[in-house]
Amino acid sequence: MFENLSERLGGVFDRLTKQGALSEDDVKTAMREVRVALLEADVSLPVARDFIKAIEKKATGQAVTKSVTPGQQVVKIVHDELVHVLAGDDEDPGELKIDNPPAPILMVGLQGSGKTTTTAKLAKRLSDREGKRVLMASLDTNRPAAMEQLAILGTQIGVDTLPIIKGQSAVDIAKRAKQQATMGGYDVYMLDTAGRLHIDEVLMNEVQAVRDVANPRETMLVVDGLTGQDAVNVAKEFDEKVGVSGVVLTRMDGDGRGGAALSMRAITGKPIKFVGLGEKMDALEEFHPSRIAGRILG
Ligand code: GDP
Repeated sequence: MFENLSERLGGVFDRLTKQGALSEDDVKTAMREVRVALLEADVSLPVARDFIKAIEKKATGQAVTKSVTPGQQVVKIVHDELVHVLAGDDEDPGELKIDNPPAPILMVGLQGSGKTTTTAKLAKRLSDREGKRVLMASLDTNRPAAMEQLAILGTQIGVDTLPIIKGQSAVDIAKRAKQQATMGGYDVYMLDTAGRLHIDEVLMNEVQAVRDVANPRETMLVVDGLTGQDAVNVAKEFDEKVGVSGVVLTRMDGDGRGGAALSMRAITGKPIKFVGLGEKMDALEEFHPSRIAGRILG
């Protein structure tokens, strides 16, 4: 995750910290390089521009350039600004609201984004780490294979899935999941909605209808982190149409450029809550902005 960006920024800051005294021009030159590195990592242009502007404002003052360790001060400013762009004012975005059992979690996203895998990963996490009783239900009535996939994953991780009844609509399944979760004493029930290749009206209408009957505590949008700015656009659209409470960025184990992570909060206002780091069921990490900023800066 973020290897390329981290390498690029590492080079810029190595030079800066080794340099000793810094002029305002030195800082500006370094920031130009940071800007290019961000854009190459597919961070959206306005986000990169605001980011650099905020840093220049804080880093070109006398307090920094005339300090004993100006390079390190600049790195600290960049670190804090990274945390800000990743998290807004939210200290702990990974926390899920799952009080008042049974708490519904709606999983939404495009087909192939990793939605079903992430549903199971999240269920496993809630069950293993927090001792929650979780019920998962697939609402993908168009793709029986997707329903089967969730059932198989459920068996694999020891989490219950709602029995499949052919011919039911997504809304019917959501109602049945709620009923079973209530009667069965579950803490959480997760609704894995159908995905499509592109956002379209049919998809959004269905997700809205499910949302209206389930009244979810969390609506988690799963997006493919490798798709960069597209991931951010998808998030924006889902949020406008169905309302999203948090984002899971998948495939962050790949050699993706990572820009989606940096633009997501600034553009959509929604926090990244988790990142997917592989196909295995435990390859899901909580998103800690300061840890991520530290990783990016090496
Ligand atoms: P869905 O159509 O959105 O439900 O997508 P799936 O959950 O079926 O995932 C599609 C493919 O992506 C599967 O082969 C998953 O194993 C894989 N996948 C999901 N999340 C990740 C991830 O974080 N990293 C990697 N490398 N692969 C992932």
